[in-house]
Amino acid sequence: MTKTARLLADLIALPSVNPAFLPARHRHAGEGRVAEFLAAVAAGAGLEVEFQQVAPHRPNLIARLSPTGRATQRVLLAPHLDTVNVASEAQFTPRRKHDRLYGRGACDTKGCVAAMLSALCALARSKSRPKQTEIVFAGLIDEENSQLGSRALAASGLRADLAIVGEPTRLQVITAHKGSLWLQLETYGKAAHGASPHLGRNAVHEMARVVDLLETDYAAQLRRRHRLLGAATVSVGTICGGSQPNIVPDRCSISVDRRTLPGETETTVRREITALLREEKLQAKVTSLKSHACWPLETNPKLPLVRRFLRSVGQARPAGIHYFCDASILSQGDIPSVVFGPGDIAQAHTADEWISLRSLERGKDFLVGFLKSLP
Ligand SMILES: [Zn+2]
Repeated sequence: MTKTARLLADLIALPSVNPAFLPARHRHAGEGRVAEFLAAVAAGAGLEVEFQQVAPHRPNLIARLSPTGRATQRVLLAPHLDTVNVASEAQFTPRRKHDRLYGRGACDTKGCVAAMLSALCALARSKSRPKQTEIVFAGLIDEENSQLGSRALAASGLRADLAIVGEPTRLQVITAHKGSLWLQLETYGKAAHGASPHLGRNAVHEMARVVDLLETDYAAQLRRRHRLLGAATVSVGTICGGSQPNIVPDRCSISVDRRTLPGETETTVRREITALLREEKLQAKVTSLKSHACWPLETNPKLPLVRRFLRSVGQARPAGIHYFCDASILSQGDIPSVVFGPGDIAQAHTADEWISLRSLERGKDFLVGFLKSLP
């Protein structure tokens, strides 16, 4: 195995499950172990290491490579350190079969962590480090839940001319992704005995019409297409109403997943839904289910560093992805961001998550090539 693959195997063996998906103080929870391990690796290669405490025992890891001269620009390498939970504990034992390395986080996104940090360490050891560009590795916590790590980094005032956010994009440079809105809709009726339903008003029946409207008319209305992202989507995820068969339900609620395109905001979406309900003479209360906004990402592919990165990996045109990630948060914090990494999102979060070792190595090589090309 290469150095990068060995680093990835070590990372898989150090559980860093997002605490949101585990009982309190579970031994697999948190990014602390991984952050400390990476800090030692980075320090060993001569990088300047610092922890940014975000939550108890959950730091972002910052490792810097200073340029040989005065820094005039900064490039961030920003993968996340947390993973989703495992299907079985065996996923913490890295297993290699031919070109594949199996284990939790192999592609999402410990593969990116390994490729990015290996690239930076290789640069630190080589003679051809940039003269004017500071390169910062930022291992971020909590991407899989509420992106506390990227939000803290953006709020810290650290600015960069480009962030390469690590996600398994099959080594494509991504400049756009959709945003994610979770809304709750509630209908209200009047409770009555199930034997005399005419005395009540059925909130579940009202909601059935709302669900139908969202899944048919509203879904069809989302026709506007984005060049890289296609159309926005809407999906009703959960429904809950009533308490027992012989009571006319007075309340029903649904949760709705709405993926947004650049230009759409929570306000514009809520306005659309409310107008549609009004037209159909339906009444529902609309509230947000997320404490933080998850905006779409749209980075200008003509920015000099984005163009240089595209050219460096031999990609003619930028591409888009349908899932949300830290790039949106950093971009909202005024850091132009793209997404890039080895592996395929199709294997993320699965019971047999794996990454192609060839893709991992190519990813590291692409990054080394790009970073070495910087002034
Ligand atoms: Zn993920």
